[in-house]
Amino acid sequence: MSRFSFAVREGEALAKYTSWRIGGPAKYFAEPVTVEDLAILAEHLRSSGESFAFLGNGSNLLVPDEGFPGWVIHTQKLVGEIEFLSDNLVKAPAGILNAKLMRACANKGLGGVGFLAGVPGTVGGAVIMNAGIGAACVDDVIDSVESFCFSSGCREYSRDELNFSYRQQHFLSATELVLFAVFQLKSAPVDDLKKEIAESAKYRKEAQPIDKPSCGSVFRNPDSAPAWKLIDAAGLKGTRVGDAVISEKHANWIINLGNAKMTDVLNLIELMKERVKATSRVTLEEEVRVLKPVQIL
Ligand SMILES: Cc1cc2nc3c(=O)[nH]c(=O)nc-3n(C[C@H](O)[C@H](O)[C@H](O)COP(=O)(O)OP(=O)(O)OC[C@H]3O[C@@H](n4cnc5c(N)ncnc54)[C@H](O)[C@@H]3O)c2cc1C
Repeated sequence: MSRFSFAVREGEALAKYTSWRIGGPAKYFAEPVTVEDLAILAEHLRSSGESFAFLGNGSNLLVPDEGFPGWVIHTQKLVGEIEFLSDNLVKAPAGILNAKLMRACANKGLGGVGFLAGVPGTVGGAVIMNAGIGAACVDDVIDSVESFCFSSGCREYSRDELNFSYRQQHFLSATELVLFAVFQLKSAPVDDLKKEIAESAKYRKEAQPIDKPSCGSVFRNPDSAPAWKLIDAAGLKGTRVGDAVISEKHANWIINLGNAKMTDVLNLIELMKERVKATSRVTLEEEVRVLKPVQIL
């Protein structure tokens, strides 16, 4: 659409922007670059009343097969460089991949974000999901967040205004885009940090089907036991609906065998919840999210 100074495409297929390789076309797909672009887009969305949603690297998202009825705002073209500030603080733009942040920090001898190794998302997606593995998560190392709210503009959150829980944040509104995150890191030997990243990659290769289209873990881990154990105990590994199948390697992962639809994945998710409830009396809760439209009120 030529009236915008940044890229806007109509009918862009979303499957290529999600790690599950599932999703129909977006009515509009926008790639804003600057805060001014975001302000122009916000003004358009306010006056038109059209709906929108944010897309990082699409590694935790299910997108409907029929597509998205409004504007999908992709964050990966947002401008910004990683900045090394004083006192081991590192400021990262929301649209860059975790892998880039981690490597840059490791090269500078700054540790603390190594747990993001193998989390194939953006910094913004990591903040929204409080991404992590084992006991480590974003909440442990984040110092502050800068956002752009589509209703009220730019805002900064200091450490005591941040509010996270397991794989969730509770301080940003649904119309608020993460622009930057500042991390409080610690000095560490470069070789140790590189080793940590390499070991994480080795572990993931052995334990997870990372070579197949997926969204990683489908369910949050309940307090009682890891979700994969409960799904395995229900005898569900290898269960298939359409082209969506529960991985033999990791029972909490659903793989797209090639042509899976969102409905296949959702039906498989329902089956997993029912069977686990029946065998372990635990109600599983999804970690993956469906891309949902929001509007400026
Ligand atoms: C192979 C594989 C392994 C994985 N392993 C892990 C793991 O170990 N630990 C873990 O926690 N997760 C894991 N995940 C899940 C996923 O990578 C994380 O949840 C990741 O943080 C999502 O980031 P993203 O940029 O892909 O976000 P997306 O999937 O694009 O979006 C996720 C949510 O965040 C919102 N969002 C994205 N960017 C922004 C922004 N800038 N501002 C506001 N909202 C935004 C979206 O609207 C959506 O609601 C894995 C996924 C895969 C495919």
